[in-house]
Amino acid sequence: MSELRFDPIHQEWVTVAAKRMQRPVTDAASACPFCPAQDEARSELPRSDYGVAVFDNQFPSFGVAGGTGADPLTVPGSAGYRRARGFGAAEVVVYSPRHEADLGTLPFAAVRLLVDAWADRTEVLSRRSDVACVFVFENRGASIGQTIDHPHGQIYAYPFLPTRMRSEYHSLWQHRRMEGSCLICDLLARDAADARRMVDQAPGWRAVVPFAPRFPFEMHLVPETHRGSLVVMDTRERDGLATLLGRSIRRYDRLWGQRMEYMMCIYQQPHECQPTNLWHLHLAFYPLRRAADKLKYLAGSESGAGAFLLDATPEEMARHLMEAGG
Ligand SMILES: [Zn+2]
Ligand SMILES: [Zn+2]
Repeated sequence: MSELRFDPIHQEWVTVAAKRMQRPVTDAASACPFCPAQDEARSELPRSDYGVAVFDNQFPSFGVAGGTGADPLTVPGSAGYRRARGFGAAEVVVYSPRHEADLGTLPFAAVRLLVDAWADRTEVLSRRSDVACVFVFENRGASIGQTIDHPHGQIYAYPFLPTRMRSEYHSLWQHRRMEGSCLICDLLARDAADARRMVDQAPGWRAVVPFAPRFPFEMHLVPETHRGSLVVMDTRERDGLATLLGRSIRRYDRLWGQRMEYMMCIYQQPHECQPTNLWHLHLAFYPLRRAADKLKYLAGSESGAGAFLLDATPEEMARHLMEAGG
């Protein structure tokens, strides 16, 4: 079980999961714990006939199941500090039994199945009393911390609202209060009038470079209709997302003619969202490569001050992504 510690200066929770230091680092297919048809004692996936597989992370940042029913955020800490047990959940989502497969090259049906799996896990985890929000993400590439080179992503079910989601929640709430409308719906309408940052479209979805991105070639996939999470998306919208996901990743890989390192994150409605229809789902790609031979480092300004710098305009980034094709 990990431990949560509250930073009183920045008002955010930090998770201490010391045993994660033991997790494996491997890129050899022969030693891959996600490949099927190996020694069952070593493989987490004994069967080869699965489409998408979801299981608990063996080296979790968050413990499984709250159990006590106690509010994890009110456990008193020592010497005036707040700390809590690491409630919540950490799951691994394996996209395919094939080690060399990739979200950009998987057939549509496989990506579509993955979208359903994300939605199902979101629905199940969101029902738990120790979960404040479900966060689906993928780290792709060794330079971004991917430790196992088999196509997979992760799901964290946080027992608290993480900082960026909290600030987004606050902005959405303020906008609703002042304007009576959804901030993201309004931004979609505003961006439609200026198509320079619009990269791609699929039924029910748009892919845009935001007005003020933080990462090079950052792109957001946003549903055109106001939806809080993957759970409430209909068949057409799930189809559209699967189409746009595959195309977006191929677009990134074509940009520099090499596999793009990125973080992909899905921002879904937090558990206790008020009003309940406040949130507007979106996915974000945060690439870590700003040129074919240059990685983007989160250095002093970004990590120390939280101030991001870009060396190209978002409009130029969008044009390059459009020209790369999907
Ligand atoms: Zn593998
Ligand atoms: Zn909206």
